[in-house]
Formats: sequence, structure tokens, C-alpha cells
Amino acid sequence: MGDRILVVEDEEKLSRFIELELSYEGYEVEKAGDGRSGLAMAEAKPFDLILLDIMLPELNGLEVLRRLRRFAETPVILLTARDSVMDKVTGLDSGADDYITKPFAIEELLARIRTALRKKKAEGSGGATPGVLHMGRLTLDVPRYSATMDQTPVELTKREFDLLKILMENAGIVLTRDILLERVWGYNYLGETNSVDVYIRFLRGKIDDAFGVKYIHTVRGVGYTMRVEEEAR
Ligand code: CA
Repeated sequence: MGDRILVVEDEEKLSRFIELELSYEGYEVEKAGDGRSGLAMAEAKPFDLILLDIMLPELNGLEVLRRLRRFAETPVILLTARDSVMDKVTGLDSGADDYITKPFAIEELLARIRTALRKKKAEGSGGATPGVLHMGRLTLDVPRYSATMDQTPVELTKREFDLLKILMENAGIVLTRDILLERVWGYNYLGETNSVDVYIRFLRGKIDDAFGVKYIHTVRGVGYTMRVEEEAR
């Protein structure tokens, strides 16, 4: 299966051209026509790389990038029509891996994509291990059933561990109480529905409060989500 690339570009003709060329190279391509839907797609499932236009309707590319970086390290190549030094500096500051100025030769774009993917894989083979989840300073080693903050072990009950695992696997995505209840407690759970809130409070005590971070967020009236926010020291 080819690497999965998300193309966020509002110029339909260009977007289709890129899709065609990338598919021909064996990549799996999905497209978004504006910033908001691009971000939503990136939140909904993992991509190996994102091509992100800067001038986009709804949410501009730099804003999409800023929000994306709260939950994903996916390599991003910015597409910019403006050959402006400012955009490039802002883009790279916001966490882009590379940028390419339109109009570009497709061979040039393909070369940049290969470089970014190679870099990601080289980093991945050093750091990422299957079954090990990361969120800021927090690491969850699923096969070993252990949680550590920096190197400090965090003692969790099975229920807390399962809840944390689901939240980390879905980082950046809001999970409703019902979904959490179903996935952690099981479909036939007949206990209190506020169990989720109780266990979220336990996790906050052991992670956010204990280490002065803010990873577990309440989305009022909906549920909970995990993302890294600046540390509240
Ligand atoms: Ca555009």
C-alpha cells in the first residue's frame, strides 16, 4: 500500500493534476478543497504527508498548520503562490517541513515529497515503536502496560489505562461520554454514566495536576479530548 497523502488545495484543476500525478507514482491521495475540511480530514485519520496550500478559503494554510501541530507530527509541504519570504519564514516557524512555490514542476514536487517521507521514516525508525503512544511528555507503552511522564512512572489502574489509551489513540478528536463508556466499560455496562467523568478526574489528578501540564480537555456538552497545551507551570 502506498503512502497516504492529503492534498489541501482549493484550485480544483491543480488539485486534480496533483492527484493524478501522485496516484500514478503509487501514492494514495485524498483531497480537501478548503482549510476547515482539510483539518477535519487530518484529524479523522492519519496521513503520511500533507500538501497544504497557504491561500485557502475557510481557514488559511498557516492556521491549518498551527492547529494540526497540536495533535499531529505529519510532514507538511506548503504550497504557496506568493514567492514571499514572509510566508516561508512563518510557514517553517509554524512547523512546516518544506515549501514549494507555485507554479512548480511536478518532478520538483515529487522530489520534495520523497525527501519529506524519507526523513519521516528515518525519524520513525529511531523513535516510534508499535504500540507505544506519545503525547507531549507522556508515553504509554501498551504492550508493557506502562505509562511514564518523562521517565517517571505513572501508576494507573486497568480502567484508567484503558481510558487513557483510547484518548491518546484519538488525540485531537473529541470523544463523547457514550463512546468512552462503550469502549472502556463495554456495551452492556449498566452502571452510572458519570463513571467517565470520575475516571477523567482520576487521570487528571495523576497526569495534568501531578506534572503541571494540560493534556486532558473537557469539551463542554460533548465529551473529552487529549491534546498538548502549553504547560501551566
Ligand atoms: Ca489557493
